[in-house]
Amino acid sequence: MHYATMFELLGVKSVTADVSLPDVPTLFEESVPGRIGVSLPKESPDTEDLIGELIPEAMRRTTPLGLPELSELQVVRHFTRLSTRTFSVDTTFYPLGSCTMKYNPKINELSASQQPFVEAHPCQPPESVQGLLRVCWELQQWLGELTGLPSVSLQPAAGAHGEFTALLMVRAYHKERGEGQRTHVLVPDTAHGTNPASAARCGLEPIALKSRGGRLDLDELQRHLSERTACLMITNPNTLGLFETQIAEICRRVHEAGGLVYLDGANFNAIVGRVRPGDFGADLMHLNLHKTFSVPHGGGGPGAGPICVKEELAPYLPVPRVKKEGDVFTLEEDAPHSIGKVRSFLGNIPNVVRAYTYIAQLGIEGLREVSSHAVLNANYLLNLLTSHYHVPYGHRCMHEFVIDGSAQRQLGVKALDIAKKLLDYGFHPPTTYFPLIVPEALMIEPTDTESKETIEAFARVMREIAELAQSHPESVVEAPVTTPVSRLDELGAARNPIVAWPM
Ligand SMILES: *Cc1c(COP(=O)(O)O)cnc(C)c1O
Repeated sequence: MHYATMFELLGVKSVTADVSLPDVPTLFEESVPGRIGVSLPKESPDTEDLIGELIPEAMRRTTPLGLPELSELQVVRHFTRLSTRTFSVDTTFYPLGSCTMKYNPKINELSASQQPFVEAHPCQPPESVQGLLRVCWELQQWLGELTGLPSVSLQPAAGAHGEFTALLMVRAYHKERGEGQRTHVLVPDTAHGTNPASAARCGLEPIALKSRGGRLDLDELQRHLSERTACLMITNPNTLGLFETQIAEICRRVHEAGGLVYLDGANFNAIVGRVRPGDFGADLMHLNLHKTFSVPHGGGGPGAGPICVKEELAPYLPVPRVKKEGDVFTLEEDAPHSIGKVRSFLGNIPNVVRAYTYIAQLGIEGLREVSSHAVLNANYLLNLLTSHYHVPYGHRCMHEFVIDGSAQRQLGVKALDIAKKLLDYGFHPPTTYFPLIVPEALMIEPTDTESKETIEAFARVMREIAELAQSHPESVVEAPVTTPVSRLDELGAARNPIVAWPM
């Protein structure tokens, strides 16, 4: 059976996903004894003497290291070939809900690879890295302005790490006010799994709140508020792609009960430049620079999860803090109320530079356009799919929406099967089985830079799959059939890891 790939659907004939490549052997299989990629100078007798002095006899290697022996060209071809076998935002539409897989403008990479940034050593004294500190300080200012929460730390390495850091601050804040009994963290049932996990890791107690009609229910909130409430962790817009329209009243009630409001800012792409969480009552939040601010992510690569807090909470921020005194940028280490350090040095600096470049390029007007395109794209796609799929919450959405695939499930086609089938058409699947309150969930987020044609091509394929689920369900269930490998044993790698080093 022939499947039109994403590129064919878009009328691009010359770029198709090449799945007919022979299997890529491992570097060890390609190894030829004696072949080299780089010529190193011969070891001098001096080096040998030095090794003799520095490394005790018992710790010296007696057998060769067992590295593969290859030419530079072999290595380049190996990795280039492998890189074409995966999905990325640079090759395909990547509508992964919640994770906001944005296009990563190449100018970000140009900035981040500038020699002074690349070669700076984290232990250099502040006076020798004034330019880098200025980038950090200005980004802090910008994020503070965009969120309405002016005190910022760039240290956390990811969103979940930002949650953890901010919750440590929440705990320190209550303790210092003599209210150490405040340990309850209220988390709506639509929340990302990292929210309750971060609370538990901080020694706080996550408590689930049932949502109603896809939004937080005020009565449910009121029932759980008490003198034990440390904070509410809320995502807005939430993971169903709905704006919490009662957010101001929600924040008022939490504050009235003596608690703080933590905003999970992973969905900031939908509101950036338009809504400032500090204005609707949030006290602390994290941002994912690798989502909203176009830093590449995925595959466990480094992210960046700055936290922004209201001024009253600034004393608790991690150290060191980048400050500006007159025209000089400094690192403040001495902060008696600080929760301390949460990461080595200042954070993931290359990502700070990428986000800085992105914001500097767009300016506030550009960012406002980003959020309007993100929301417009999602609503357009939602509209193109409702003829074939059930979207239980909202006929209008923010930047993403969630399909309930129960009808397809009845035909024997699971959300997972639909996701796998998309691979045959050259599309990366959306997020599946999240949020948990939607059965057979497919969570779709077409980001701001996607064209009308791409969105329409994806919608055509989604509708075709819905029709196949009716007429030939077996052809969806067996997918993918055009990828280098078909269904993988998803638990195998975790249960039976092969970590042996071939010698
Ligand atoms: C991605 C995400 C997180 C966690 O962020 P990481 O950077 O992946 O640690 C938290 N909440 C929501 C809603 C998210 O989408």
